[in-house]
Amino acid sequence: MRWDEMRESSNVEDRRSEGGGGGGLGGGIFMLINFLGFKRVLVLIVAVIGIGVLMGKSPVDMLRMLGLVGPAGERPASYQQGPRGATDNDQHKQMVARILGDTEDTWGRIFQQNGRTYQQPALVLFRDQVRSGCGGASAAVGPFYCPADSKVYLDLSFFDELHKRFGAQGDFAQAYVVAHEVGHHVQNLLGTSGKVHERQQQLPKAQANALSVKLELQADCFAGVWGHSAQQRGLLDAGDLDEALNAAHAIGDDTLQKHAGGAVVPDSFTHGSSDDRKRWFKRGFESGDPGQCNTFKS
Ligand SMILES: [Zn+2]
Repeated sequence: MRWDEMRESSNVEDRRSEGGGGGGLGGGIFMLINFLGFKRVLVLIVAVIGIGVLMGKSPVDMLRMLGLVGPAGERPASYQQGPRGATDNDQHKQMVARILGDTEDTWGRIFQQNGRTYQQPALVLFRDQVRSGCGGASAAVGPFYCPADSKVYLDLSFFDELHKRFGAQGDFAQAYVVAHEVGHHVQNLLGTSGKVHERQQQLPKAQANALSVKLELQADCFAGVWGHSAQQRGLLDAGDLDEALNAAHAIGDDTLQKHAGGAVVPDSFTHGSSDDRKRWFKRGFESGDPGQCNTFKS
């Protein structure tokens, strides 16, 4: 894949410097909540603030003593902030930014052809754990998309693992991961995911899960639609495609996609059989037409 010829997106938010114990209510509190449960942590915080007030200290000082909030004046990292250890993974960052840029151009064009405007999603790079509009998440959940803030979340160590396992073939597997998450963004813009989630509330679990699978397969098909466009411009090699797709499937059954408890619904690559995923990806890839991606009809 010739990703270096793709346009670089300016919508990458680099939060890797926040690391595990970032600003605001950082990593410490997520770990505590995981460990003790939300109610107990709340009681603990109220107790600590109470003691602090009795001792004449400010609540923030007390929380800082416990390591629950970052140093004074610390704020979330802004767009394009230089990451800690900027050299590691920066080739990956470049690649992700270019693939994202290419999905923006592709979906921008498709939306325009249909008389609509494509709102570009942001892509947040993080390390270890992150706060999203859908709640806190650790890297263990794998890449995910949060509809509440229209952002894709990605820990680049996920790609290191891909590289280790699949070597050069990782390139397209990585692009596929980004394009699949962008596919969820497209579903969000089209209102599909919202409708599905509403419907799922009223269904028994098995049927609700079946709908989740259809959402996943449609995101695969949308990833294929992007692949089609890249292929048309000579940026992909069809021979590599199958191998890369197989690699992406192999990841699915892996511990990389472990679900973590918490508010975020992790994106799972285990949804749908390998054959189904391949079939829907190919459908998008061969047609280049999102209209062919109605997984709900079948
Ligand atoms: Zn997905």
